[in-house]
Amino acid sequence: MPIYRAPVEDYKFLLHELFEVEKQTDLPRYADLSSDLIDDILTNAGKFCEDVLQPINQSGDEEGCHFENGIVRTPKGFKEAYKAYCEGGWGGLGAPADVGGSNLPNVITMAVAEMAMSANQAFAMYPGLTSAAYSALYATGAPWMKDHIVPKMVSGEWTGTMCLTEPHCGTDLRLMKTRAVEQPDGTYRMTGTKIFISGGDHDLADNIIHMVIAKIPDENGQIRNDLSTVNFFMVPKFLVSEDGKMGARNGVSTGGIEHKMGIKGNATAVLNFDDAIAWRLGPQPIPPKPGEKRSASAGMAGMFRMMNAARLGVGVQGIAIGEVAYQNGLDYALTRRVGHALTGPKEPDQPADLEIVHPDVRRMLLHCRSFVEGARAMAVWTTLNMSLGNSNRPEKDTAALLGDLMTPVIKGFFTDMGFEAANYAMQCYGGHGYIRDNGVEQFVRDGRINQIYEGANGVQALDLVGRKLGRKGGAAPFALFSEIGKWLKEQDADALAPFTKPMQRGLDTLQQATMWLAQHGLQNPNDAGAAASDYLRLMGIVIVGWMWARMAKLAHAKLAAVVANKPLYEGKLVSARYWMERLMPECPMLLERIQSGSATLMAFEPTA
Ligand SMILES: Cc1cc2nc3c(=O)[nH]c(=O)nc-3n(C[C@H](O)[C@H](O)[C@H](O)COP(=O)(O)OP(=O)(O)OC[C@H]3O[C@@H](n4cnc5c(N)ncnc54)[C@H](O)[C@@H]3O)c2cc1C
Repeated sequence: MPIYRAPVEDYKFLLHELFEVEKQTDLPRYADLSSDLIDDILTNAGKFCEDVLQPINQSGDEEGCHFENGIVRTPKGFKEAYKAYCEGGWGGLGAPADVGGSNLPNVITMAVAEMAMSANQAFAMYPGLTSAAYSALYATGAPWMKDHIVPKMVSGEWTGTMCLTEPHCGTDLRLMKTRAVEQPDGTYRMTGTKIFISGGDHDLADNIIHMVIAKIPDENGQIRNDLSTVNFFMVPKFLVSEDGKMGARNGVSTGGIEHKMGIKGNATAVLNFDDAIAWRLGPQPIPPKPGEKRSASAGMAGMFRMMNAARLGVGVQGIAIGEVAYQNGLDYALTRRVGHALTGPKEPDQPADLEIVHPDVRRMLLHCRSFVEGARAMAVWTTLNMSLGNSNRPEKDTAALLGDLMTPVIKGFFTDMGFEAANYAMQCYGGHGYIRDNGVEQFVRDGRINQIYEGANGVQALDLVGRKLGRKGGAAPFALFSEIGKWLKEQDADALAPFTKPMQRGLDTLQQATMWLAQHGLQNPNDAGAAASDYLRLMGIVIVGWMWARMAKLAHAKLAAVVANKPLYEGKLVSARYWMERLMPECPMLLERIQSGSATLMAFEPTA
């Protein structure tokens, strides 16, 4: 049976010591964030995840969801766990107080979400998508929806989904066919099929509020192949009247659930909309003037808000799967006896040494650990920037740009690395990792989807190089480089040289790559496309490296003073050195790949 221990101490280190979040009282939602409150939430969330969610992770994977006679049932234990989750108020942690939430900032909800995803990703996706859906509905819905629907989603009585994908399109949403036709009473009638909808149907809650994108036919009743008529709608499974009463079943039915590689406890549904009653959300689209290019409709803003939140959430899933996989790989390496240390037996009275003596096993485990803890720091830094972006501080615009720049990096880099970590953890088990009973192969299967959904990682990379880098004349990368450069200049201690020197080289390389993209990407878009994934990884490695340099500085200072908790700081220094010695050297290699351009890739004829 796999193990899981919530990383409460690591979060305390990041929140209290590295980022000192309780001092940021002027940021929105931070005013009441005392140290004690943070510790209480982390401890209780950790305990809930360890005691309630983790024990049904492996059984949920073995059993999967069931679809019989049009009804979807979740695996044994999920209903009881969901009830306990709602009673604990975990689903409303980040929701505003006026809809029954605890109004806590993202930095806290992110920590709790990571723990839940580590303990049981399939389960945690039900409330995870619900909170993305209620945030969007809160921002774009009519007052009666905020009064009667959002509070039920916040409490968990009802859940939510995000419906974008159709059989013929997931990435290229211009091609979507689902249509919504306006009715005299101002509602819409929706027809079409959405597939792969996470939590699309289940037996956990009484109602499901689907957040759906669909096209409004033009004046000729035609559906266009662009985003200009795409709008954002709310479609409940059971109808809800404006005074909040739940009524008859709406025209949404479940066509089936997918049999899939992982996250088997999460129902991935085909949803058929047959003249379903839908409510349009957000501002009305502005029709383009004659000759004007059609752009995405204003109603899409709500969807983008939901997708950005979900992207960060999926990035955190990468950390979560890396953390739990690492813990299990380490646990195994500390108990399995195999071979002898290369320098001679460590325990001569035993038939073999513990697996952990082998440098290659340590390489795999440190790869996981330095990723997980470094990425966690970067995620906290990013959510802090996002909160800063919503504050009144002078640096708010730069902070918002940085948060925006980091979104595709967190989604793409963290989920790639999370999968690598799960794979390494499985490798630590040898053949036993390939056997289902031991549970570690589940992490590989569960973690694999994170690289695909919420926009495939290649598409995140395109978003980074094609949109985010150039926004506002390149203000975001400029701000990032100058912030890291300034920090590096301020460090002069010799003791920090093992961290600051590779960081300076990494920063120079990232700047060179950015310059190369600016020069070549505009001339030849294929060069930008060919470079995108390597560039995203380069940026991820450098920023996590910066986090490690900052953590190393703090750990040095703590160890120089007489403090308790020395193993924590010593561990930080080892992981920081690992990142500098083993990940930062990838930077020049990535630059070389980026600069090789697209000619070879494009020279390959499909017929060959
Ligand atoms: C288990 C599961 C749960 C899901 N949950 C949801 C959900 O809740 N709601 C929802 O709406 N959808 C959901 N999805 C759908 C998911 O978001 C899509 O599968 C994903 O966005 C990719 O779309 P696609 O499958 O149509 O692949 P395509 O769009 O056909 O793309 C195929 C591949 O081509 C590449 N590619 C495509 N376009 C580009 C490009 N412009 N540049 C570079 N490479 C490109 C990518 O590598 C991509 O993986 C889920 C999917 C699964 C499997």
